[in-house]
Amino acid sequence: MVDEQLRARGIHDRHVLRIMEAMPRHLFVDDTLAARAYSDHALPIGDEQTISQPYMVALMTQALDLTGNEKVLEIGTGSGYQTAILAELAERVFTIERIPAIAAAARERLTALGYTNVVFRCADGTLGWREMAPFDRILITAGAPRMPAFLEEQLRPGGIAVVPVGESENQSLVKATRTEDGLAQRVLCGCTFVPLIGREGWASGNVG
Ligand code: SAH
Repeated sequence: MVDEQLRARGIHDRHVLRIMEAMPRHLFVDDTLAARAYSDHALPIGDEQTISQPYMVALMTQALDLTGNEKVLEIGTGSGYQTAILAELAERVFTIERIPAIAAAARERLTALGYTNVVFRCADGTLGWREMAPFDRILITAGAPRMPAFLEEQLRPGGIAVVPVGESENQSLVKATRTEDGLAQRVLCGCTFVPLIGREGWASGNVG
């Protein structure tokens, strides 16, 4: 997976490559899908949600430019795979998931794996997590109709956010850096994430 899907496509951050080489991705999917856990696509995790494609996880993590000291906010815990990678590469991770069963499963999984630097919350993450702000990095792993407004206030100056933004079926992966003049944005690539549902996201049942 790491050689063919990540290195060959230009993922070069050695910390990201090392952690993804070591991370047991099969433990983040149902037993019936374990044989496909390292293949080149997203997989279902229940409730119409997915664990993201390995390459997309690598690309987003690399774009966050982590040094080990960061306080990170993740919206869309899902399986917890991306959360675990962030927990390895940053100091602390605050992660929000809106579906209770998915949130509970991820918490259980990461606790069993021994992670102690992750704080879980089950809520609508489109408003961020004001009590815990500011964050050095913010990662959204569901497709937002537009850049959520909370980024401007909850991202520390100089901080980086990575967000898929666009239509419900396909989005642009945007890297935003908070500067004195607001968010400096750059598109990294096209992508397809499940929709970000909530007050500042898509309306539930009205996606697409
Ligand atoms: N990084 C995860 C991706 C999971 S898919 C993984 O690789 O496993 C995206 C997740 O975002 C889904 O679990 C979905 O329920 C969640 N989500 C969607 N809208 C949300 C919101 N407003 N707040 C928190 N989580 C949200």
